[in-house]
Amino acid sequence: IDKNPAQPEFHQAVKEVLESLRVVIEANEEAYRKDALLERLVTPERQLLFRVPWVDDKGQVQVNNAFRVQFNSAIGPYKGGLRLHPSVNLGIIKFLGFEQIFKNSLTGLPIGGGKGGSDFDPKGKSDREVMAFCQSFMTELSKYIGADTDVPAGDIGTGAREIGYMFGQYKRIKGVYEGVLTGKGLSYGGSLARTEATGYGLLYLTEEMLKCNGKDIAGKTIAVSGAGNVAIYAIQKAQQLGAKPVTCSDSTGWIYDPEGIDVALLKEIKEVKRARLTEYAAARPEAQYHEGKGVWSVKVDIALPCATQNELNLEDAKTLVANGCFAVAEGANMPSTIEATEYLQAKGVLFAPGKASNAGGVATSALEMSQNSERLSWTFEEVDSKLKGIMVNIFHNMDDAAKKYGMEGNYVAGANIAGFLKVADAMTAQGIV
Ligand code: NDP
Repeated sequence: IDKNPAQPEFHQAVKEVLESLRVVIEANEEAYRKDALLERLVTPERQLLFRVPWVDDKGQVQVNNAFRVQFNSAIGPYKGGLRLHPSVNLGIIKFLGFEQIFKNSLTGLPIGGGKGGSDFDPKGKSDREVMAFCQSFMTELSKYIGADTDVPAGDIGTGAREIGYMFGQYKRIKGVYEGVLTGKGLSYGGSLARTEATGYGLLYLTEEMLKCNGKDIAGKTIAVSGAGNVAIYAIQKAQQLGAKPVTCSDSTGWIYDPEGIDVALLKEIKEVKRARLTEYAAARPEAQYHEGKGVWSVKVDIALPCATQNELNLEDAKTLVANGCFAVAEGANMPSTIEATEYLQAKGVLFAPGKASNAGGVATSALEMSQNSERLSWTFEEVDSKLKGIMVNIFHNMDDAAKKYGMEGNYVAGANIAGFLKVADAMTAQGIV
């Protein structure tokens, strides 16, 4: 905390991981204390901070802060998304990069941990302004990334449009056509099923978690928060599996649609029109729109937080439990506060942490890297079936790790332990670097 003041989200992520590794570390005290492995693990290999000047439509120069944290490359090139949101600061990028190390390890694929972004807000900007920002951002970032060194992707605020502008600028500056970014459009090296991957993966893991606990997802009512990339495809896959998602939200309000969310309408509003959820309610008379926050107040069997960090607090957790919710699987990164997570676990709610349950996105990004390297494209079915296999595997890896260390059913600990062991082993083998 003294070394990294004013980074509460980073402290929260480190505390959660280290607490759950306590039993593993105590069992191998000598190995993990030796050579300051833990200190190296919580310290990024490299942190890049730079300014992004760009010209807005009025001809005024705007300046944003930008970040790329290359956290850990023990098991592969740095991999992690770029967040564009006014709330972005170094602490948030470090929390995300730290989580990414374990998530990427859990996928079983050769990818290290990193994260980046800027306090630029794409909302309300023209396409030209977004392009001007992305080109200026990539002009600096291109010095530090590459297909074999660091491969960024999308995140909040960075979708297909932004990735396209960034990829174009990277190619222009470097003069090489390589898979330096994932989440690309299908016409220039993107992977089928990448758009759907995080939401679909979340549901594949949730389905497996329920199955292994004697429950079935079909027929269940689900609360989803968010209305972005993760939320939309989580809702779609939940419906395909026979469940009924009844809520979604954005940063201004939320929808309760007792008949079940109309995904086609939601996609039209969010992906095409880039509009607010008030338009959803206007088009669906049976749906209710509420200002502010509130999806967790609805009576549901399962909750899938898919918007942002710390959006499900202790009060929300109590309401969910009181309403009979028996499973929570995180689509977003660290959407539940530590207090909420502990409460849900104490009440016997099945709880899948984001670093496991939302790993489908980065896993499919790694599959995009494989396709780019072999200059081939796989079919949707091929990618989707690999994704499903990866998510089922992740569930069993964290389940087995929890059991092995005497914490059966504690998937938070299981995910941290399984992710950590592989990275720690690789770091030890590679010496003090
Ligand atoms: P999007 O930008 O597509 O959507 C984010 C959604 O959450 C929007 O509906 C947004 O509303 C809402 N939201 C964002 N910030 C806030 C906030 N501070 N308060 C309330 N609502 C908010 O992002 P993604 O769907 O891609 O990402 C969602 C989460 O999932 C993030 O935590 C991300 O890190 C994580 N994630 C994403 C992956 C991916 O592949 N996309 C992979 C793994 C994790 P509004 O539009 O009004 O801002």
